[in-house]
Amino acid sequence: SFVTVSDVLAGKVSVGTTVTVRGWVRTRRDSKAGISFINIHDGSCFDPVQAVVENSLPNYSSEVLHLTTGCSLAVTGTVVESAGKGQAFEIQATTVEVLGFVEDPDTYPMAPKRHSMEYLREHAHLRARTNVTGAVMRVRNCLAQAIHRFFHERGYFWVATPIITASDAEGAGELFRVSTLDLLNVPKTEQGEVDFKQDFFGKEAFLTVSGQLNAETYACALSKVYTFGPTFRAENSNTSRHLAEFWMVEPEVAFADLNDIAHLAEDMLKYCINAVLTERADDMAFFAQRIDPTVIERLQHVVSNDFVHMDYTDAVEILQNCGKKFEYPVSWGTDLQSEHERYLAEEHVGAPVVLKNYPRDIKAFYMRQNDDGKTVAAMDILAPGIGEIVGGSAREERLDKFDQRLAELGMDPEDYGWYRDLRRYGTVPHAGFGLGFERLVSYVTGMTNIRDVIPFPRAPKSADF
Ligand code: ATP
Ligand code: MG
Ligand code: MG
Ligand code: MG
Repeated sequence: SFVTVSDVLAGKVSVGTTVTVRGWVRTRRDSKAGISFINIHDGSCFDPVQAVVENSLPNYSSEVLHLTTGCSLAVTGTVVESAGKGQAFEIQATTVEVLGFVEDPDTYPMAPKRHSMEYLREHAHLRARTNVTGAVMRVRNCLAQAIHRFFHERGYFWVATPIITASDAEGAGELFRVSTLDLLNVPKTEQGEVDFKQDFFGKEAFLTVSGQLNAETYACALSKVYTFGPTFRAENSNTSRHLAEFWMVEPEVAFADLNDIAHLAEDMLKYCINAVLTERADDMAFFAQRIDPTVIERLQHVVSNDFVHMDYTDAVEILQNCGKKFEYPVSWGTDLQSEHERYLAEEHVGAPVVLKNYPRDIKAFYMRQNDDGKTVAAMDILAPGIGEIVGGSAREERLDKFDQRLAELGMDPEDYGWYRDLRRYGTVPHAGFGLGFERLVSYVTGMTNIRDVIPFPRAPKSADF
């Protein structure tokens, strides 16, 4: 029967059973006694399984001795206890069927050595075969499953929000426009130029920067919802924490306030981290060994302590008085830069920190105004090594305050007719947050560049296929 490497190594197959594993050669070693040891990985777990192949096999010298890293094969044999240390089980091969050799092994790009992350990014179609990318993708999957499970267990409904939208939810102007390539029917202005304002069947449309506004619609009906999907931002800079295409987790909760969602985010993060520590211990041991020696201790500390909460105003004071020289100075009313966020999380608190009540002028138009007339009920969660991983707020549910804010910002209420309706017909307090999924994967694995925690990074100079 066909089994995975994980089945064999985890002891799910009894000793003495005949099985077939299929995968790719990681390494081959030959003993003088005419026995070859082939390590085979199939991506199901971190470790490869060892197949012991004797020279009595008919294709031993014609094929087995030519196997190199990257060859694909199916090995049939008996599961036996392993004499060597490291692994409990191995396979005593009875047949080795080569599915595909590697053309010109000397130039195989994924030869078994430590490659730089830049090199792996240049070989994005093959990097999934490496230890590091395999481990990242298994952890990423574990986190995604944990997120859905977390919300499902708490009675949240998953809502699919649209990728094509008309509104710039964040007002940051980082939109990609949706345009037709139907040249014959492309709308034209009177001057004969492409009319982008008409390009989506007579209207202007963009790729979504956030599913929040749409999720609010469903929160104001199903009470507890979340959306989890791709979002797009024209971030034309090469930071290690911004992608042009990234995934966001956005719960939206009716009858909730700022502290409710700060605690929801904390619970969710702890739930996800616990899932990774228990379900992906093999991959996490690798990250601790290769990427960041303290990653596991750090995460254990996070799950067993309450998050520290702090007001933006107090944070500014801390940053001004800490004696550290920042590239950008901090004053009340400015948005914090990554260097400030990291200082607060890494050096001041030494753990994730919840920053609350930001000046309203640096936050989006939909956030709920505080009574002081200066701040809004917003919160960011800042993580060591990264900075902002979560941004959330209570939403302005009072129509008069909302309209006043639109007017101050010179925004057209007509564009927000449907959003205003949620406030006109049975409005309720509600709140939500957005978690950058790749920032979470970076944080949990210790990987320092966000391009290495998504299968196909989209950023300036990386959108090859
Ligand atoms: P930043 O200040 O880091 O640019 P932001 O405040 O613009 O982030 P939000 O609009 O608050 O981002 O989006 C919610 C979350 O989405 C952020 O907390 C972050 O985790 C994530 N995020 C935002 N922009 C990106 C991006 N370009 N690539 C990856 N994740 C992102
Ligand atoms: Mg941004
Ligand atoms: Mg920000
Ligand atoms: Mg933000």
